[in-house]
Amino acid sequence: MLGLYVHVPFCAAICNYCNFNRGLFQQELKERYVEAVCREIRLRARGVATDTIFFGGGTPSILEAEEIGAIIRACRDGFAVTADAEITLEANPEGVTEERLAAFRQAGVTRLSFGVQSFRDDELRRLTRLHSAHRAVAAFREARAAGFDNVSLDLMMWLPQQTVAEWLESVDALIELGPDHASLYMLEVYPNSPLREQMARAEWSVAPDDDVADMYLQSMERLDAAGYEQYEISNVAKPGLRSRHNLKYWTDGEWLGFGPGAHSTIDGARTRNVSSTTEYVDAVRPGGPLVAETRRLSSHDRMEEALFTGLRLSDGLSVDLVRAKFGIDLWTEFGAELQPFRDLGWLIYDEGRLRLTRAGMLLAHEIMTVFIRPAAGPSA
Ligand code: SF4
Repeated sequence: MLGLYVHVPFCAAICNYCNFNRGLFQQELKERYVEAVCREIRLRARGVATDTIFFGGGTPSILEAEEIGAIIRACRDGFAVTADAEITLEANPEGVTEERLAAFRQAGVTRLSFGVQSFRDDELRRLTRLHSAHRAVAAFREARAAGFDNVSLDLMMWLPQQTVAEWLESVDALIELGPDHASLYMLEVYPNSPLREQMARAEWSVAPDDDVADMYLQSMERLDAAGYEQYEISNVAKPGLRSRHNLKYWTDGEWLGFGPGAHSTIDGARTRNVSSTTEYVDAVRPGGPLVAETRRLSSHDRMEEALFTGLRLSDGLSVDLVRAKFGIDLWTEFGAELQPFRDLGWLIYDEGRLRLTRAGMLLAHEIMTVFIRPAAGPSA
């Protein structure tokens, strides 16, 4: 089934580490954006079965519930959205109240994903986040009170000045709240980000690599013990509550992305919309210059991506499925290069599956480079 992604490019303030496609909230531009995104959905409608809608950003919860409702209606008009569709809204703790969240639910949202990042105020301040740890806890409780039974929380590890014990404090606070899903990411400090300059000025450092491995492994162990299932390198869920939308990205699925800078992968091609919100609102018209980039995906491209993303999953790759889709035997093709990782205990190959161990997940990128091979050229 198809997934729909809606990019909402507005934030109340810009965090010092952020490199997403976003800009500061402007009322008038926001109104033009909502009209444009509904228009885009209608222009690209195709009536096919669709079981997920994901509002990502930016800060989607900055929109009013009526606006979210109008976008969901446009999706329902243009696509055969299933009755039990997973409709996720990314939300920031500082911008919500129980009433606002109840209104989002009324508008059709079924799942919330809060960008908490840390349950320590000193860490949140270093990241220039607008919320406090107290507000994050309150937002989660408001979500429950508003009737949401599927709530995800995001945390980030490897923050400036963060120790292993401080990181685990946040993990314990999350477990104590008991969300249905959690995403644990490592902070990447980009070369030109204000955070990098701030770190240099304030002489903040990040934990050494061995500590990061500890952060990752110990948090996953605590989440295991609390009844969460790790299903992807960075994601855990209570049984039955994995993100159906994100699984499409990891299982060679198809999706349409609406909004500025949104990517789509469908019918063997990947496209990207224009990134600038002002250009986007003008470009959405029949024949308008909405698509900035189109790339046909060869079967080699698709296979390489399917191997990369599939190995991110705890279930790993099914040898039979890879053979059926791409006509290769995984182990015959890559076994010689993968065996050293197996010997180190980073990779398991049995029962027709190839999967990373938790220690291997820490080195996933290194292992995945095995799958990069030049595409076969045309025969002479
Ligand atoms: S709220 Fe999220 S998208 Fe917005 S600036 Fe901060 S990190 Fe970036």
